[in-house]
Amino acid sequence: MTPQAESVLELFRSTGAYLEGHFRLTSGLHSSTYLQCALVLQHPAAAAKLAGMLAEEIRKLAAARIELVVAPALGGLIIGHEVARALGTRFLFTERDAATSKMALRRGFTVGPGEIAVVIEDVITTGGSTRDVIDLLRAAGVNVVAAGSIIDRSGGRADVGVSRAALATLQVAAHYPEECPLCQRGIPVVKPGSRPT
Ligand code: ZN
Repeated sequence: MTPQAESVLELFRSTGAYLEGHFRLTSGLHSSTYLQCALVLQHPAAAAKLAGMLAEEIRKLAAARIELVVAPALGGLIIGHEVARALGTRFLFTERDAATSKMALRRGFTVGPGEIAVVIEDVITTGGSTRDVIDLLRAAGVNVVAAGSIIDRSGGRADVGVSRAALATLQVAAHYPEECPLCQRGIPVVKPGSRPT
């Protein structure tokens, strides 16, 4: 793991955002660790620090001057906004339509053909949300030059079709419930994430 990734994970640990226990992931798999970005990003200073690092990585990937940062709501809102601040660009977010689950720009947001954009997320797992945002922007003529996330949970494998940066790349061990060592030890499983606690 790089020194940068170590310092990012230390920031997650010190803010209680690096959870250890027995978790049921969205995929249905079980894992002993879970990164809850909202818990580190609740601290604006930490959000600004992570965004500064991510903006620097993005600049290394993109030769052109970036004009726009776009992030999928809700996960990408805080980090996307802070990366836009660090890059000196405006910031837009996309939302999924409740009925069709298609990604859309709402709230009067507009983009112009030829605008140079990057897409930012908190965590990339499969890259699906980032790819959906890229497709939406490309359909509007926007030139998406790079994508970035604080955490890459895919072990570096997620392919979003453009150059991609992450501050910490993890290979999170996950097990099918029937093969889960924590289940076998009788430890209750919990679902972390966006539901009320
Ligand atoms: Zn389990």
